[in-house]
Amino acid sequence: MNRVIAIDGPAGSGKSSVSKRVGRDRGFLHVDSGALYRIMTWQALLAGIDTADEAAVAACAADVEVSFRAEGGAVAFYVDGQTPGEAIRSAEINRHASPVARVPAVRNKVTAWLRSLRTLGDLIVEGRDITSVVFPDTPARFYLDADPSVRAIRRHREEVAKGIATQSEAEIKASLLNRDRIDSTRAVAPLVLAPGVLRIDTSDLTLDQVVTRVIAELPVAWR
Ligand code: C5P
Repeated sequence: MNRVIAIDGPAGSGKSSVSKRVGRDRGFLHVDSGALYRIMTWQALLAGIDTADEAAVAACAADVEVSFRAEGGAVAFYVDGQTPGEAIRSAEINRHASPVARVPAVRNKVTAWLRSLRTLGDLIVEGRDITSVVFPDTPARFYLDADPSVRAIRRHREEVAKGIATQSEAEIKASLLNRDRIDSTRAVAPLVLAPGVLRIDTSDLTLDQVVTRVIAELPVAWR
């Protein structure tokens, strides 16, 4: 059976950068589970659905088809033959993703997709419920955390670097805190520090330091 490294944490905690680096270094395909919730959100908005209407979101999710391909060290997602790219990174999607991710039918579909990806190879999967629900039995589980102000600064810098910044740091911080609140308090698969998961506070650590720490904590045969 292929191996899985599971990484959870709130937005801006460093999950993506760390997962990509550890994956490249150790030969595990990077899987961004948040992008699947963003795809569900994108499709709901394109269909003109009110994301507070759980039944409508569930019905829309049932029709979303995604295909998966291992590409350049990651699992790439295709919707109608195209990768969604920056279309799923807008402030509007940020605002609607947590309400969509609260819907059990959406979560069940994404969880089944994520588990099926294991056939593609060894995976490093990042998200909110990977250590607790999707792959709770894997021996490599991490929870990355950081101070909300640090997370907002990081996210703002990333958006400026990509040329997609439309919000100030303060606006980003408010949006992150709002998502944290919804993600941590929802009834199904909330963001939690599950028993046995190693929490790393990345606030004062460089990317290199976090990567080194995660690799050092992997099962001996995986390092
Ligand atoms: O990781 P990212 O910020 O792109 O995720 C977008 C949203 O998708 C999160 O705010 C959360 O509501 C949802 N999500 C989730 N479970 C995951 C990954 C993401 O509920 N495993």
